[in-house]
Amino acid sequence: MNIILLGPPGAGKGTQSAALVERHGMRQLSTGDMLREAVKEGTPVGLEAKAVMDRGELVSDDIVSRLVDENLAAMPAEQGAIFDGYPRTAGQADDLDRILAKNDRSLDHVIELEVDVEALVERITGRFSCAKCGALYHETANPPAKEGVCDVCHSTEFKRRPDDNEETVRTRMDEYRAKTAPILPGYEARGIVQRVDGMDAIEDVAKAIDAILKC
Ligand code: AMP
Repeated sequence: MNIILLGPPGAGKGTQSAALVERHGMRQLSTGDMLREAVKEGTPVGLEAKAVMDRGELVSDDIVSRLVDENLAAMPAEQGAIFDGYPRTAGQADDLDRILAKNDRSLDHVIELEVDVEALVERITGRFSCAKCGALYHETANPPAKEGVCDVCHSTEFKRRPDDNEETVRTRMDEYRAKTAPILPGYEARGIVQRVDGMDAIEDVAKAIDAILKC
């Protein structure tokens, strides 16, 4: 099973991908996470991508498609892939078709998380994660059970993404509208697009996704 989770920044793609990994042993391929890792490690890709990411613009198709290609090739054939935050342009959608074909895989579902764009700004600017294990939280919608302590690993260190500020978020939304939303009609023509209300509670969104995947 290979699926794309599509939706503007803050729609819940990362949260739902993590839940799918947990429930079904699928692998999350998040180009945002791969790029943040490259920035942290100071690799040539990271050095090139950092300023673009800080502005909320899109990193080049070549870079992100190469990252996806490398990561998918390293996966066992039987493990399902969740593409999270990729593809984001028409060029990347074409690249993904080629990468999947090369790996004898095909696309089963494109799930679009539909959201109210204004509510997203609040959602994004309130989110943070555990600095140790990466568990995701939100100040009001999904705080840790005990304030200041990670539910998963009990660390007391948290962090925020540098691009989760209002100005950058607005640029990221614009990029989504201009470059990512236009790839949906191509997938619709293949009959593989399904929509889920991304404003629902996290568990309800997860149930709706499971119903689509029939598992
Ligand atoms: P995300 O974690 O998916 O919100 O991505 C964070 C940032 O990484 C984006 O604002 C882009 O600058 C960059 N990025 C992530 N995925 C892609 C992609 N598929 N294409 C281009 N840039 C990307």
